Amino acid sequence: MIKREKFWQRPGWVFCLLLALFHFASVKLTFFCAVTPENAVVVWLPNAVLLAALLRFRGQRAPLLAAITFTSDVLANLNAFPWYEAVLLSAVNLAEITFTYQIMTRSRASPRLHRLKDLVKFIIAGPVFGAMLAGLLAAVVLQQVGGATTSYFTLARVWWFGDGLGLLIYTPLLLAYTQPQRQRLKLTRLDDAALGLTLMLSFAVLSAHGGEIDGVSVTPTLLLPAVAVIAFRFGVRLTTLLVALISLSTAMLMTTGLKPFGDVPIHLEVVRAQEFILTLCIIGIGFAVLLSELQTRERELESRVRERTRELEQSNARLAAISATDGLTGIANRRRFDETLTGEWNRARRSKQPLVLALLDVDLFKQYNDHYGHQCGDDALRAIAAELARHARRSGDFVARYGGEEFALIAQASGEDHALAMAERLCRSIATLRMPHATSPFEVLTVSIGVAVFTPGQQDSWDDLLKAADVALYRAKQLGRNRVELADVESVT
Ligand code: GH3
Ligand code: MG
Ligand code: MG
Repeated sequence: MIKREKFWQRPGWVFCLLLALFHFASVKLTFFCAVTPENAVVVWLPNAVLLAALLRFRGQRAPLLAAITFTSDVLANLNAFPWYEAVLLSAVNLAEITFTYQIMTRSRASPRLHRLKDLVKFIIAGPVFGAMLAGLLAAVVLQQVGGATTSYFTLARVWWFGDGLGLLIYTPLLLAYTQPQRQRLKLTRLDDAALGLTLMLSFAVLSAHGGEIDGVSVTPTLLLPAVAVIAFRFGVRLTTLLVALISLSTAMLMTTGLKPFGDVPIHLEVVRAQEFILTLCIIGIGFAVLLSELQTRERELESRVRERTRELEQSNARLAAISATDGLTGIANRRRFDETLTGEWNRARRSKQPLVLALLDVDLFKQYNDHYGHQCGDDALRAIAAELARHARRSGDFVARYGGEEFALIAQASGEDHALAMAERLCRSIATLRMPHATSPFEVLTVSIGVAVFTPGQQDSWDDLLKAADVALYRAKQLGRNRVELADVESVT
């Protein structure tokens, strides 16, 4: 895997060797299937090899890559032209690709051609202007150096169209197969049927030779709708491959004299084939790229929505925490207390376990405020809340600020003795905080606690538990404060 990544990061010597071989093979492929016996080139593929390599490696080692394909081009051209003309025509090809690459870079086209915008920039830079420039230059070479007798504009046009179509067919194909594919295909039976139908149509086109089958005119144009369907369903890779296969097969039918567009003169046949290949590329590759772009956008949108939802959930959780927390002491507030008591009450009713509720009230707190000031009163409430929270963390109980200088504790206990002992411990722990209270008989801040222990039945309500604890608290105050009183539950209910 690492090796594979390295291979695709920089054009190393293995890649250069493959590039030379691939370029040469592309020349051979072009001569094999896209050059007519009259030497008219229907599509010229090799130029796309250099362009795809430059785009794939974002111009890294461009001179080396250019030198390799230039050499291969000259060697290939030597078959058909004297050496000086071969060199000049290869230089024209090199100029075409350099120009195209420069225009694409300057117009900031993404080299991956994965958005319609980039595909359009590529088409304008390469098949339209790059290939036209090459056509104009090559026609000069062919006339002035090679002594061609065909008119300048015909020579330029033939070269332009051949080069342009070669770039159009081959560059997206090479780029699609040398880059990671993000699109994931989920094929249905209908997709299989579409592919099967396309194959059948291709077979019909191959066997009809531009004529008719049972009175129906069968030309390659019939394949266009099928390619559009495939572009929509099968993604960029498969579509570029299919477009290349159909284009080259059509060119091959022509060059082998099988006349896929009927019995028309050769110059018209070349134009028909080129028109067909152009339409095929635009429909096939254009649709596939458009769809892939839409899918990418949809994925991006989905992931943005997911991210926003997560943020929203987090801020909701924060809000919920804030709305359940007491602002002064940071422990649970009355709202949260009510919810928790309801929940615990129902749980205790189901499990038939006793539930403990303790109400704590700070003793003589009005005097404390009067003596030390409201600010010190707040600090004292915070300190008491912190002590209660420490206890709750250790025991797994629940504490809340019930209101003013009153706190509440919900706990589980095995029975009344256990609950009483627990409340006594709490009462002592507040006193041992030793917060001075000059006007209290205890000289420190203390709390009084009313405890109610209750096993709820079906008919009971948690109101009874609260009432019982409140009565007990009142008794604790009456009996001198800084003490715990147990509620007589029977008398309340
Ligand atoms: P007792 O022992 O009978 O409970 O006497 P007490 O003075 O504590 O009772 P009382 O109900 O008369 O006074 C409660 C005081 O608690 C009055 C109020 O100013 C004070 N208090 C309530 N909430 C706060 C608060 O958030 N901050 C401060 N600093 N004081 C508060
Ligand atoms: Mg009070
Ligand atoms: Mg009080």
